[in-house]
Amino acid sequence: MISYETLGIPRVINASGRMTALGGVALHPDVIAAMVEGGRANVNMEALKDVAGERIAAWCGAEAAMVTPGASAGNVIMTAAAVSGNDPYRAAQLPNATWPRREIVLQLGHAVSYGGRITQDIQHGGGIPVLVGTANSVHGYDIAGAINERTAAVFFVQSHHAVQKGMLDLPTVIAIAHEKGVPVLLDAAAEEDVHNYIAMGADLVTYSGGKAFEGPTSGFILGSKERIAACRLQEGGIARPMKVGKETILGLLAAMARYVTNDVAAEKARQMGVIETLKGGLDDLPHTRLTIERDEAGRAIWRLHLTLNEAALGFTATTLMKDLQEHDPPVFPRGHWANTGTVALDPRPIADGDVPVIIEAIQSIYARHGAMREA
Ligand SMILES: *Cc1c(COP(=O)(O)O)cnc(C)c1O
Repeated sequence: MISYETLGIPRVINASGRMTALGGVALHPDVIAAMVEGGRANVNMEALKDVAGERIAAWCGAEAAMVTPGASAGNVIMTAAAVSGNDPYRAAQLPNATWPRREIVLQLGHAVSYGGRITQDIQHGGGIPVLVGTANSVHGYDIAGAINERTAAVFFVQSHHAVQKGMLDLPTVIAIAHEKGVPVLLDAAAEEDVHNYIAMGADLVTYSGGKAFEGPTSGFILGSKERIAACRLQEGGIARPMKVGKETILGLLAAMARYVTNDVAAEKARQMGVIETLKGGLDDLPHTRLTIERDEAGRAIWRLHLTLNEAALGFTATTLMKDLQEHDPPVFPRGHWANTGTVALDPRPIADGDVPVIIEAIQSIYARHGAMREA
C-alpha cells in the first residue's frame, strides 16, 4: 500500500494557507469521491472538457470557461490566446511569434513571483512583457503611453503577492485598455469572488482550483466564447504539456459545486473559532503581542498574528518558524512577515483537531528557549 506514511513523508500541520509547497488543500470527501469515480472509466475528453467549461462558466457568470492544470498554466494560455488570437497557424508557432503584435503590458508592481514569475509565464505564452511605471507608483499615462499597435494585451495581477500601494486598480486599467481596444488578462489565482472580475469587464480571468475553491491541483480560465476558443486552440500546441486528467476535472467540478453552494458564513465562523481558541491558548506567551488581522490584500480572511519582541525573548520570529517546522508533527505557519518579527497562523487549512497540537508546539518552543511566562 502506497501512502505518505509508507513513503516516510510525514503529514504536516498547515497553518500557512493554500500553499503549493504543502500540496494545496486537504480535499473534502465529496471531492475525493468524484475523483475516484472519474478515474474508473474512459470518456470522450473533448465532450468532458466542453461540459466542464459550460458548468464553470454558468457558476461564475461568464460566457465560457476552460479547465487548466492551474492558474500558472492559465497565465501562459491567456497570453498565448491574446498573441495568436483564433488563428491556428499562429497558435502553432508559439512561443516564437514572428508577428509584431505580441507585447503584454504589465505594471511594475505586478511583476512578482508567486513561486514562478509572472513575466516568465508571459514569455512562455509567446508574449513580450513590457513593464511600466515604477515599483511603487504607476500612472494612467504609463499604461496608455505603452499601448501601441504591437500590444496584444494588458496583464493584471490581482493578488496579495502584488504591490498593493501605488498601483492602478483593475477598473482603471480596464478603462484605459478598452479605450485603446486592447484586452485585459487577469491573474486572480487565489481570489474568492468568481463573478466580480468578469462583471467589471476583464476579458480573460484565471483562477487556481486548489486555492479558494479547495479543489485538487487544477485551475480554469473565464471569458467570452471567442476568447475561450482561442485558449482551447492552445491545447494542441503550447498547452499540450499542460494536460488535465479526467479525474482532476471531476474533482474540480465537485469542489466548485461545493464552493458556490457552500454556507460561506458558517465556514468563516468556524475559522474565527479556530483563531479565538488559538489566541486563548497562547495569550500568556511572554513578550508577544497577539492580534487578529485581516488579509493584506483585502480578502475576507482573518489570521492570528504573533508579533515577537525579539530582543526581550532572545530569539527571532524566523527561529520560531524554523522550530515549528522541525516540531513533531511539523507545523508550518505563515512566514510572509517573519523578517519583521511576526509569525501568522492562517485558520483556513487548520482542522479543529490540530488546534491543541499547534498551541502545544508553540508553548513548548518558548519553554525550550527559556522564555518565561509573565508572572
Ligand atoms: C498561486 C498563484 C499562481 C499559480 O497558481 P497554480 O494554480 O498553483 O498554478 C499564479 N498567480 C498567483 C498570483 C498565485 O498566487
